[in-house]
Amino acid sequence: MRPKILIIYTGGTIGMAMDYHSQSLIPFDFDNLLKRLPEISLIDCDFDYFSFEEPIDSSNMRPEIWLQIAEALETKYHEFDGFVILHGTDTMSYTASALSFMTENLEKPIIFTGSQLPIGELRTDAKENLITSILLASLQKEGKPMIQEVCIYFEYKLFRANRTTKINAENFDAFESPNFPSIGISGVHLDVKEKILFNYQKTGDFRINKQLDSSVGVLKIFPGIPQTFVENLLHSPNIKAFIIEAYGTGNIFTDQWFIDLLQQKAKEGIHLIINTQCAGGMVEIGRYSTSTPLAKIGVISSFDLTMEAAITKAIYLLGQNLTHAEFKTQYETSLKGEMSTT
Ligand code: ASP
Repeated sequence: MRPKILIIYTGGTIGMAMDYHSQSLIPFDFDNLLKRLPEISLIDCDFDYFSFEEPIDSSNMRPEIWLQIAEALETKYHEFDGFVILHGTDTMSYTASALSFMTENLEKPIIFTGSQLPIGELRTDAKENLITSILLASLQKEGKPMIQEVCIYFEYKLFRANRTTKINAENFDAFESPNFPSIGISGVHLDVKEKILFNYQKTGDFRINKQLDSSVGVLKIFPGIPQTFVENLLHSPNIKAFIIEAYGTGNIFTDQWFIDLLQQKAKEGIHLIINTQCAGGMVEIGRYSTSTPLAKIGVISSFDLTMEAAITKAIYLLGQNLTHAEFKTQYETSLKGEMSTT
């Protein structure tokens, strides 16, 4: 039986063309994209396609549109063996991370890909990215899909989606997984590292948890950050979780006004999550005295989460209506292979 793959087109550079009036790249329709990939008919799979009515530049992506992708996946889940989602690179790590948290009992691959150059350009990276994503999505083992998680495939590497971050706006290798190895390499052979694929005990049928709440704020600290700016930001109404991008292993400046403000916010029931500005390594609250006040306040550690996973995990968990203690426990637990805690 040939595997059946659904390709979902949301937009992004992969399907863009130059608009001669504005001299900028804009998305075009899916038929146009496929016309530029005649090689697709050589792949030993059956396909179907689903395209957003209006493909978007992924800078315009938002949780309501994650839900549209979720709807498409949910309706078509049982008809297909694997899914390839074409998405702009700018926010691909956010969407893919969010989907990793939202999907429950996933037993099929959901592979996000896109490209740095449109598919119509001579030197495009789109063809390899798309063709290999389809091949990866169609891999089977003992009659079941080999990959059963949300991934990003880009420039010869397969990543666990919720470990990725976009690190380059120009090079073809736009993504990196700073704290977890790539789960597959495309060379002469497609080498999927089966031992590190995400696998967990499924407890029921596939479903997508669509309860999201994006009342999340981010505070990136820097030497000399103005007090009024920090105060205004932390007093923003209707924010239920703040992610504080701290230095190194979770260190902050320890001016009393800042500690008092954090203390006050924690008392108000706001979730304070400490992330690191470093690309690699993890938060270790209490390692330096500049983070011990945070330990006393009872902040939440994001360990080695990428910023994309830190934000989308907060959006997902806020949607679950948890108490502060439940939120902290869930946040500090790896739910979908997104973080290491030691
Ligand atoms: N701005 C584009 C987008 O994210 C960039 C890309 O696709 O590479 O949709």
